[in-house]
Amino acid sequence: MIQFRDLQKQYAALKPAVDEAVAGVFTSTHFIGGSEVSSLESELADFVGTTHCISCANGTDALSLALMAWGIKAGDAVFVPDFTFFASAEAPAHIGATPILVDVDAQTYNIDPQKLEEAIRAVHKEGSLTPKVVVTVDLFGLPADYSEIRRICNTYGLLILEDAAQAFGGSYKGQKACSFGDISTTSFFPAKPLGCYGDGGAIFTDNDEWASLIRSYAVHGKGSMKYDNVRVGVNSRLDAIQAAILRVKFAAFKDYELDAINKTADYYDVGLKDSGCELPVVPASYYSSWAQYTIRLPQGTDRNAMQEYLKGQGIPTMVYYPKPLHQQPALKDIARRFGDNEVSSALCETVLSLPIHPYLETYEVDQVISEVCSFLKSRL
Ligand SMILES: *Cc1c(COP(=O)(O)O)cnc(C)c1O
Repeated sequence: MIQFRDLQKQYAALKPAVDEAVAGVFTSTHFIGGSEVSSLESELADFVGTTHCISCANGTDALSLALMAWGIKAGDAVFVPDFTFFASAEAPAHIGATPILVDVDAQTYNIDPQKLEEAIRAVHKEGSLTPKVVVTVDLFGLPADYSEIRRICNTYGLLILEDAAQAFGGSYKGQKACSFGDISTTSFFPAKPLGCYGDGGAIFTDNDEWASLIRSYAVHGKGSMKYDNVRVGVNSRLDAIQAAILRVKFAAFKDYELDAINKTADYYDVGLKDSGCELPVVPASYYSSWAQYTIRLPQGTDRNAMQEYLKGQGIPTMVYYPKPLHQQPALKDIARRFGDNEVSSALCETVLSLPIHPYLETYEVDQVISEVCSFLKSRL
Protein backbone atom coordinates (compact mmCIF):
# COMPACT_ATOMS: atom_id res chain seq x y z
CA MET A 1 0.00 0.00 0.00
CA ILE A 2 1.49 3.33 -1.06
CA GLN A 3 1.72 5.83 1.79
CA PHE A 4 1.95 9.56 1.20
CA ARG A 5 4.82 9.63 3.68
CA ASP A 6 5.59 6.23 5.15
CA LEU A 7 6.48 6.61 8.82
CA GLN A 8 5.74 2.94 9.49
CA LYS A 9 8.37 1.66 7.07
CA GLN A 10 10.79 4.17 8.51
CA TYR A 11 10.14 2.98 12.05
CA ALA A 12 10.52 -0.64 10.94
CA ALA A 13 13.94 0.22 9.49
CA LEU A 14 15.12 2.10 12.57
CA LYS A 15 13.25 0.23 15.31
CA PRO A 16 16.13 -1.31 17.29
CA ALA A 17 17.99 1.99 17.53
CA VAL A 18 14.87 4.10 18.22
CA ASP A 19 13.63 1.71 20.91
CA GLU A 20 17.01 1.66 22.58
CA ALA A 21 17.28 5.45 22.52
CA VAL A 22 13.82 5.89 24.05
CA ALA A 23 14.50 3.23 26.69
CA GLY A 24 17.67 5.12 27.58
CA VAL A 25 15.66 8.26 28.35
CA PHE A 26 13.10 6.28 30.37
CA THR A 27 15.92 4.78 32.43
CA SER A 28 17.63 8.11 32.98
CA THR A 29 14.30 9.83 33.82
CA HIS A 30 15.94 12.98 32.51
CA PHE A 31 12.88 14.00 30.50
CA ILE A 32 13.47 17.72 29.97
CA GLY A 33 16.84 19.05 28.79
CA GLY A 34 19.93 16.98 29.50
CA SER A 35 22.51 15.39 27.28
CA GLU A 36 20.20 14.07 24.53
CA VAL A 37 18.94 17.59 23.90
CA SER A 38 22.32 19.29 24.06
CA SER A 39 23.98 16.61 21.90
CA LEU A 40 21.23 16.92 19.30
CA GLU A 41 21.61 20.70 19.25
CA SER A 42 25.34 20.52 18.61
CA GLU A 43 24.95 17.81 15.94
CA LEU A 44 22.34 19.90 14.10
CA ALA A 45 24.37 23.11 14.36
CA ASP A 46 27.42 21.26 12.98
CA PHE A 47 25.46 19.90 10.03
CA VAL A 48 23.83 23.21 9.17
CA GLY A 49 26.96 25.26 9.78
CA THR A 50 25.72 27.74 12.39
CA THR A 51 27.19 28.63 15.77
CA HIS A 52 23.96 28.05 17.67
CA CYS A 53 21.06 25.62 17.56
CA ILE A 54 18.31 26.04 20.13
CA SER A 55 15.63 23.36 20.17
CA CYS A 56 12.04 24.22 21.08
CA ALA A 57 8.53 22.79 21.16
CA ASN A 58 7.57 23.16 17.47
CA GLY A 59 8.30 25.03 14.26
CA THR A 60 5.69 27.70 14.92
CA ASP A 61 7.20 28.56 18.30
CA ALA A 62 10.60 28.66 16.61
CA LEU A 63 9.35 31.48 14.37
CA SER A 64 7.72 33.29 17.29
CA LEU A 65 10.84 33.05 19.46
CA ALA A 66 12.96 34.57 16.70
CA LEU A 67 10.53 37.48 16.32
CA MET A 68 10.45 37.95 20.12
CA ALA A 69 14.25 38.10 20.25
CA TRP A 70 14.15 40.87 17.65
CA GLY A 71 11.44 42.75 19.54
CA ILE A 72 9.02 42.71 16.60
CA LYS A 73 5.74 44.33 17.59
CA ALA A 74 2.59 46.13 16.48
CA GLY A 75 3.38 48.64 13.74
CA ASP A 76 6.10 46.45 12.21
CA ALA A 77 5.74 44.99 8.72
CA VAL A 78 6.84 41.36 8.26
CA PHE A 79 6.94 40.17 4.64
CA VAL A 80 5.69 36.61 4.08
CA PRO A 81 5.09 34.62 0.89
CA ASP A 82 1.37 34.24 0.09
CA PHE A 83 1.78 30.56 -0.84
CA THR A 84 2.88 28.73 2.32
CA PHE A 85 1.59 27.06 5.46
CA PHE A 86 -0.40 29.36 7.74
CA ALA A 87 2.20 29.38 10.56
CA SER A 88 4.64 31.52 8.52
CA ALA A 89 2.19 34.44 8.81
CA GLU A 90 0.57 33.37 12.07
CA ALA A 91 3.76 33.89 14.09
CA PRO A 92 4.18 37.58 13.16
CA ALA A 93 0.41 38.16 13.43
CA HIS A 94 0.32 36.59 16.87
CA ILE A 95 2.71 39.17 18.29
CA GLY A 96 0.78 42.01 16.71
CA ALA A 97 2.95 42.69 13.65
CA THR A 98 1.40 43.03 10.20
CA PRO A 99 2.12 40.24 7.70
CA ILE A 100 2.59 41.67 4.20
CA LEU A 101 1.74 38.87 1.78
CA VAL A 102 4.03 38.74 -1.23
CA ASP A 103 3.46 36.71 -4.38
CA VAL A 104 5.70 33.78 -5.25
CA ASP A 105 7.72 32.76 -8.27
CA ALA A 106 5.79 30.56 -10.71
CA GLN A 107 8.74 28.18 -11.18
CA THR A 108 10.13 27.66 -7.68
CA TYR A 109 6.97 28.56 -5.66
CA ASN A 110 9.24 30.58 -3.35
CA ILE A 111 8.90 34.31 -2.61
CA ASP A 112 9.45 36.40 -5.75
CA PRO A 113 12.37 38.76 -5.01
CA GLN A 114 11.16 41.43 -7.43
CA LYS A 115 7.69 41.48 -5.90
CA LEU A 116 9.27 41.51 -2.46
CA GLU A 117 11.19 44.65 -3.34
CA GLU A 118 8.02 46.27 -4.73
CA ALA A 119 6.16 45.43 -1.53
CA ILE A 120 8.93 46.90 0.65
CA ARG A 121 8.84 50.12 -1.40
CA ALA A 122 5.05 50.23 -1.18
CA VAL A 123 5.12 49.91 2.61
CA HIS A 124 7.76 52.66 2.87
CA LYS A 125 5.73 54.92 0.60
CA GLU A 126 2.47 54.32 2.42
CA GLY A 127 4.23 55.14 5.68
CA SER A 128 2.05 53.59 8.42
CA LEU A 129 4.20 50.51 9.07
CA THR A 130 7.92 49.97 9.63
CA PRO A 131 9.45 47.25 7.42
CA LYS A 132 11.48 44.94 9.68
CA VAL A 133 11.68 41.29 8.64
CA VAL A 134 11.31 39.04 5.61
CA VAL A 135 10.13 35.52 6.42
CA THR A 136 11.56 33.48 3.57
CA VAL A 137 9.94 30.07 3.30
CA ASP A 138 11.96 27.26 1.67
CA LEU A 139 8.81 25.69 0.27
CA PHE A 140 8.53 21.93 -0.25
CA GLY A 141 12.25 21.54 0.58
CA LEU A 142 13.76 24.02 -1.88
CA PRO A 143 15.71 26.99 -0.45
CA ALA A 144 14.53 30.44 -1.53
CA ASP A 145 16.56 32.78 -3.78
CA TYR A 146 19.00 33.96 -1.10
CA SER A 147 21.43 35.91 -3.27
CA GLU A 148 18.64 38.26 -4.39
CA ILE A 149 16.80 38.31 -1.07
CA ARG A 150 19.99 39.09 0.87
CA ARG A 151 20.81 41.94 -1.53
CA ILE A 152 17.32 43.41 -1.10
CA CYS A 153 17.39 43.03 2.70
CA ASN A 154 20.78 44.76 2.85
CA THR A 155 19.48 47.61 0.72
CA TYR A 156 16.43 48.22 2.91
CA GLY A 157 17.91 47.22 6.27
CA LEU A 158 15.66 44.23 6.85
CA LEU A 159 16.35 41.00 8.74
CA ILE A 160 15.85 37.56 7.19
CA LEU A 161 13.92 34.96 9.15
CA GLU A 162 14.36 31.74 7.20
CA ASP A 163 11.38 29.42 7.73
CA ALA A 164 13.02 26.12 6.79
CA ALA A 165 10.30 23.98 8.40
CA GLN A 166 10.08 22.03 5.13
CA ALA A 167 13.69 22.25 4.03
CA PHE A 168 16.02 20.76 6.60
CA GLY A 169 18.66 19.03 4.46
CA GLY A 170 18.19 21.30 1.44
CA SER A 171 21.01 23.52 0.22
CA TYR A 172 22.02 26.31 -2.16
CA LYS A 173 25.57 26.62 -3.52
CA GLY A 174 26.64 24.03 -0.96
CA GLN A 175 25.27 26.07 1.93
CA LYS A 176 22.66 24.32 4.03
CA ALA A 177 19.07 25.40 4.65
CA CYS A 178 18.68 26.74 8.21
CA SER A 179 21.81 28.87 7.75
CA PHE A 180 20.53 31.55 5.32
CA GLY A 181 18.56 33.64 7.77
CA ASP A 182 19.86 36.08 10.35
CA ILE A 183 17.82 33.60 12.32
CA SER A 184 16.54 30.37 10.74
CA THR A 185 13.99 27.88 12.00
CA THR A 186 12.82 24.36 11.32
CA SER A 187 10.10 21.94 12.42
CA PHE A 188 10.33 18.30 13.46
CA PHE A 189 6.62 17.61 12.93
CA PRO A 190 6.50 13.89 12.00
CA ALA A 191 5.93 14.37 8.26
CA LYS A 192 8.67 17.00 7.74
CA PRO A 193 11.96 15.93 6.11
CA LEU A 194 13.46 15.32 9.57
CA GLY A 195 10.56 14.51 11.86
CA CYS A 196 10.26 13.32 15.43
CA TYR A 197 7.46 11.30 17.10
CA GLY A 198 5.47 14.30 18.27
CA ASP A 199 6.03 18.05 18.02
CA GLY A 200 9.45 19.66 17.92
CA GLY A 201 11.36 22.55 16.39
CA ALA A 202 14.70 24.33 16.31
CA ILE A 203 16.22 27.76 15.81
CA PHE A 204 19.62 28.46 14.24
CA THR A 205 21.79 31.57 14.31
CA ASP A 206 25.39 32.76 14.42
CA ASN A 207 24.48 35.69 16.66
CA ASP A 208 25.40 35.12 20.34
CA GLU A 209 23.12 37.82 21.70
CA TRP A 210 20.01 36.60 19.85
CA ALA A 211 20.82 33.01 20.81
CA SER A 212 20.91 33.83 24.50
CA LEU A 213 17.72 35.93 24.21
CA ILE A 214 15.97 32.98 22.53
CA ARG A 215 17.17 30.56 25.22
CA SER A 216 15.72 32.96 27.77
CA TYR A 217 12.37 33.55 26.01
CA ALA A 218 11.92 29.79 25.53
CA VAL A 219 12.16 29.16 29.29
CA HIS A 220 9.89 31.77 30.91
CA GLY A 221 12.26 34.65 30.22
CA LYS A 222 14.85 33.22 32.57
CA GLY A 223 17.83 35.29 33.65
CA SER A 224 20.77 33.70 35.43
CA MET A 225 18.52 30.74 36.33
CA LYS A 226 14.97 29.47 35.89
CA TYR A 227 13.64 31.29 38.99
CA ASP A 228 15.15 34.61 38.01
CA ASN A 229 12.71 35.91 35.40
CA VAL A 230 13.95 38.98 33.58
CA ARG A 231 11.44 39.10 30.70
CA VAL A 232 8.03 37.63 29.93
CA GLY A 233 8.59 34.58 27.77
CA VAL A 234 6.96 31.24 27.04
CA ASN A 235 7.54 27.58 27.84
CA SER A 236 8.80 26.02 24.61
CA ARG A 237 11.18 23.08 24.88
CA LEU A 238 11.98 19.92 22.95
CA ASP A 239 11.77 17.00 25.35
CA ALA A 240 14.53 14.42 25.76
CA ILE A 241 12.50 11.55 24.25
CA GLN A 242 12.04 13.50 21.03
CA ALA A 243 15.71 14.50 21.04
CA ALA A 244 16.81 10.88 21.46
CA ILE A 245 14.56 9.76 18.58
CA LEU A 246 15.77 12.64 16.42
CA ARG A 247 19.41 11.68 16.93
CA VAL A 248 18.71 8.20 15.56
CA LYS A 249 16.63 9.55 12.70
CA PHE A 250 19.17 12.24 11.88
CA ALA A 251 21.87 9.61 11.36
CA ALA A 252 19.65 7.77 8.84
CA PHE A 253 18.65 11.08 7.26
CA LYS A 254 22.28 11.97 6.51
CA ASP A 255 23.30 8.45 5.74
CA TYR A 256 20.75 7.48 3.06
CA GLU A 257 17.30 9.08 3.40
CA LEU A 258 18.13 12.40 1.78
CA ASP A 259 19.85 10.66 -1.07
CA ALA A 260 17.01 8.16 -1.52
CA ILE A 261 14.33 10.84 -1.65
CA ASN A 262 16.31 12.80 -4.25
CA LYS A 263 16.57 9.67 -6.41
CA THR A 264 12.80 9.26 -6.18
CA ALA A 265 12.28 12.88 -7.23
CA ASP A 266 14.60 12.34 -10.22
CA TYR A 267 12.67 9.21 -11.12
CA TYR A 268 9.38 11.12 -11.04
CA ASP A 269 10.94 13.83 -13.24
CA VAL A 270 11.82 11.32 -15.93
CA GLY A 271 8.56 9.39 -15.73
CA LEU A 272 6.30 12.46 -15.79
CA LYS A 273 8.28 14.37 -18.43
CA ASP A 274 5.61 13.95 -21.12
CA SER A 275 2.59 13.92 -18.80
CA GLY A 276 1.62 17.50 -19.62
CA CYS A 277 2.12 18.52 -15.97
CA GLU A 278 4.57 21.17 -14.85
CA LEU A 279 7.16 19.43 -12.71
CA PRO A 280 8.94 20.89 -9.68
CA VAL A 281 11.87 23.11 -10.67
CA VAL A 282 15.17 22.78 -8.82
CA PRO A 283 17.42 25.49 -10.34
CA ALA A 284 21.17 24.92 -10.78
CA SER A 285 23.15 24.99 -7.49
CA TYR A 286 20.04 24.10 -5.47
CA TYR A 287 19.33 20.85 -3.64
CA SER A 288 15.90 20.04 -2.27
CA SER A 289 15.03 17.88 0.72
CA TRP A 290 11.64 17.12 -0.91
CA ALA A 291 9.13 17.73 1.83
CA GLN A 292 6.72 17.49 -1.11
CA TYR A 293 6.87 16.53 -4.77
CA THR A 294 4.32 18.98 -6.14
CA ILE A 295 3.21 19.06 -9.76
CA ARG A 296 0.95 21.55 -11.56
CA LEU A 297 -1.85 19.95 -13.50
CA PRO A 298 -2.60 20.94 -17.09
CA GLN A 299 -5.11 23.78 -17.51
CA GLY A 300 -8.69 22.57 -17.07
CA THR A 301 -7.88 19.31 -15.26
CA ASP A 302 -10.57 18.34 -12.73
CA ARG A 303 -8.29 18.02 -9.72
CA ASN A 304 -10.95 16.55 -7.44
CA ALA A 305 -11.78 13.87 -9.98
CA MET A 306 -8.10 13.10 -10.39
CA GLN A 307 -7.58 12.75 -6.65
CA GLU A 308 -10.61 10.48 -6.44
CA TYR A 309 -9.35 8.36 -9.32
CA LEU A 310 -5.88 8.04 -7.80
CA LYS A 311 -7.35 7.23 -4.40
CA GLY A 312 -9.30 4.43 -6.06
CA GLN A 313 -6.00 3.07 -7.35
CA GLY A 314 -4.51 3.18 -3.82
CA ILE A 315 -2.54 6.37 -4.42
CA PRO A 316 -2.88 9.11 -1.80
CA THR A 317 -2.38 12.73 -2.89
CA MET A 318 -2.65 16.10 -1.14
CA VAL A 319 -3.29 19.71 -2.12
CA TYR A 320 -0.63 21.98 -0.63
CA TYR A 321 -2.15 24.54 -0.48
CA PRO A 322 -5.82 24.93 -1.33
CA LYS A 323 -5.90 28.68 -0.52
CA PRO A 324 -3.36 31.50 -0.61
CA LEU A 325 -2.88 33.15 2.79
CA HIS A 326 -4.70 36.27 1.60
CA GLN A 327 -7.88 34.17 1.42
CA GLN A 328 -7.55 32.80 4.96
CA PRO A 329 -10.37 34.20 7.13
CA ALA A 330 -8.08 34.61 10.15
CA LEU A 331 -5.81 37.02 8.29
CA LYS A 332 -8.55 39.01 6.59
CA ASP A 333 -8.32 42.07 8.84
CA ILE A 334 -4.67 41.60 9.79
CA ALA A 335 -2.54 40.85 6.74
CA ARG A 336 -2.05 43.18 3.81
CA ARG A 337 -0.81 42.92 0.25
CA PHE A 338 0.17 45.37 -2.44
CA GLY A 339 -0.30 43.20 -5.52
CA ASP A 340 -2.97 40.81 -6.77
CA ASN A 341 -0.76 37.80 -5.96
CA GLU A 342 -2.13 36.02 -8.99
CA VAL A 343 0.64 33.39 -9.11
CA SER A 344 -0.20 32.22 -5.59
CA SER A 345 -3.91 32.09 -6.42
CA ALA A 346 -3.27 30.17 -9.64
CA LEU A 347 -1.00 27.66 -7.89
CA CYS A 348 -3.68 26.92 -5.32
CA GLU A 349 -6.05 25.97 -8.16
CA THR A 350 -3.67 23.60 -9.96
CA VAL A 351 -1.07 22.05 -7.61
CA LEU A 352 -1.10 18.41 -6.56
CA SER A 353 1.42 16.75 -4.25
CA LEU A 354 2.29 13.12 -4.97
CA PRO A 355 3.56 10.51 -2.51
CA ILE A 356 7.26 10.89 -1.77
CA HIS A 357 9.45 9.55 1.02
CA PRO A 358 12.79 7.75 1.36
CA TYR A 359 11.17 4.31 1.57
CA LEU A 360 9.05 4.50 -1.58
CA GLU A 361 9.89 1.56 -3.88
CA THR A 362 10.61 1.99 -7.57
CA TYR A 363 7.62 -0.16 -8.54
CA GLU A 364 5.40 2.12 -6.43
CA VAL A 365 6.71 5.25 -8.14
CA ASP A 366 6.13 3.51 -11.48
CA GLN A 367 2.55 2.89 -10.44
CA VAL A 368 1.97 6.55 -9.47
CA ILE A 369 3.50 7.74 -12.73
CA SER A 370 1.43 5.37 -14.81
CA GLU A 371 -1.87 6.22 -13.08
CA VAL A 372 -1.21 9.98 -13.26
CA CYS A 373 -0.48 9.66 -16.99
CA SER A 374 -3.42 7.40 -17.66
CA PHE A 375 -5.89 9.74 -15.90
CA LEU A 376 -4.59 12.75 -17.81
CA LYS A 377 -4.67 10.92 -21.15
CA SER A 378 -8.24 9.79 -20.60
CA ARG A 379 -9.26 13.46 -20.20
CA LEU A 380 -7.71 14.70 -23.45
C1 LIG B 1 5.11 22.90 9.35
C2 LIG B 1 5.42 24.29 9.09
C3 LIG B 1 5.54 25.24 10.14
C4 LIG B 1 5.16 24.95 11.55
O1 LIG B 1 5.77 23.87 12.14
P1 LIG B 1 5.07 23.16 13.40
O2 LIG B 1 6.18 22.34 13.97
O3 LIG B 1 3.95 22.34 12.87
O4 LIG B 1 4.61 24.22 14.34
C5 LIG B 1 5.93 26.52 9.82
N1 LIG B 1 6.17 26.88 8.55
C6 LIG B 1 6.05 26.02 7.52
C7 LIG B 1 6.36 26.50 6.15
C8 LIG B 1 5.66 24.70 7.75
O5 LIG B 1 5.52 23.86 6.72
